[in-house]
Amino acid sequence: MTLLSRPKDPGAMSDVRVRFAPSPTGTLHVGSARTALYNYLFARHHGGVLVLRIEDTDLKRSLREHEQSIVRDLHWLGLQADEGPDVGGRYGPYRQSERGPLYEAGVQQLLATHSAYHCFCTQERLESLKAEQLAAGRMPKYDRLCHHLAPEVVEARLEAGVPATIRFLVPEGDISFVDLIHGPITFSSDVIGDFILKRTDGGFAYNFAVVVDDAGMKITHVIRGEDHITNTARQLMLYAALDEPAPRYGHHSLIHGPDGGKLSKRHGATSIGEFRDLGYLSDAVVNYLALLSWHPGDEREKLTLDEVVEGFDMSRASKSAAIFDLDKLNWLNGLYIRALTAADLSEIVRPYLREQGLEFAEGQRQVVAAAIQANLVVLEEAPRYARVFSDDLVITASTHLAALDEPGVRTALEAARERLSRAEGEYFEVDEGRALLKDVVDACAGQGVKGKAIYKPLRVALTGLDQGPELFYLIAGLGRSRIVARLDAALAYLEERSA
Ligand code: GLU
Repeated sequence: MTLLSRPKDPGAMSDVRVRFAPSPTGTLHVGSARTALYNYLFARHHGGVLVLRIEDTDLKRSLREHEQSIVRDLHWLGLQADEGPDVGGRYGPYRQSERGPLYEAGVQQLLATHSAYHCFCTQERLESLKAEQLAAGRMPKYDRLCHHLAPEVVEARLEAGVPATIRFLVPEGDISFVDLIHGPITFSSDVIGDFILKRTDGGFAYNFAVVVDDAGMKITHVIRGEDHITNTARQLMLYAALDEPAPRYGHHSLIHGPDGGKLSKRHGATSIGEFRDLGYLSDAVVNYLALLSWHPGDEREKLTLDEVVEGFDMSRASKSAAIFDLDKLNWLNGLYIRALTAADLSEIVRPYLREQGLEFAEGQRQVVAAAIQANLVVLEEAPRYARVFSDDLVITASTHLAALDEPGVRTALEAARERLSRAEGEYFEVDEGRALLKDVVDACAGQGVKGKAIYKPLRVALTGLDQGPELFYLIAGLGRSRIVARLDAALAYLEERSA
């Protein structure tokens, strides 16, 4: 038997229905987010529908709070599904734990058509069978002992309550399909034993539930990670046995760390929530994941989700493992941060600043945001750069203070104090900051003090540091009172030194 997976209606792409089917046993990992993105792009590009299905058959490990956090992260990324447990739809329920009757009907259909049978073998028997087969150098595979039981025997055992699983009778022959990414793939069914559809505890196996769901939800294309390729062979057999048309399959490569190993905790942040908390912008993360999956075919790197949707082409999805490159994500994130208006950035960084006890005045916030914008890679770094604008800054005797010992510095600081103390208002616009700095420089020049004696000493007097935001940002955003106090402190220091 050869099963060729085929679209239900190859011509009508608007019939496209794809699904993202996470197991809610943890938070949304970047690898899964990439699967969701592939499905989203495919659906949107073809004007189809994206279904979110929650695969929570593992009742012990599946948690509703994980489901909620996955949904929240998908929303954050902008990858909303058109149908799912949160939005409903015609083909629900969308949680596997609520679809038991549908699986039961599927199992009964397979039993009725002799594509499945009850198996009473105990765990002990299965284990010793496996050990025997391995010892004989054979591949472990169920030996179909229970397939040969007479129907009356099966009946009697079931009535007596002997625990039973239901196994699929794997048909002979090759299973072939044309993968959307990898091209033709063939499996021999010889290597596949009669697998379990329903467990003794009444639960249904993943491969079976997925087929009942994908068929019932009219899924036309299954796009998922390469780790599912061997499942596809089993799933195609089930479609044939259930007399349902199979969807087409596309198995995308997995994400690896820079060392070549599968991306994991040891490579740093791996969940979407962690990236969000560190202060990556959702647009940057989606842009990065899109480039990791597919290439626009030209030089563009900064792309909106809509642009990716438009250009997306599954056949250009990369076959080889995608290497997670944090530097590139950081670079993209910086681009997105710099593309924000100061007003937007000031709102976005607020929680990060507040977490470190930094709260800026109304008139100060946007200047602070503009001042730190060029340096930020992730929002989490905002407090580090913004601290100079707060009362938190303690200017301690540091090596930088040596800059104040240059000749002319006292004159420069006095000129700055004189000009800035009579500026009107507390905080200033960036342009006003620029104009004030120019006034200070002009006043210094009038007294014969230039360049070296002005810029660095002024920065050190205002921040205690020899690096940081441009001086005009400091003048605009520090606040007149802080500027005067810090200049006074620096002048007092000079006084002390000369005494
Ligand atoms: N629930 C499966 C997983 O999280 C996905 C199964 C599928 O896409 O067929 O890996």
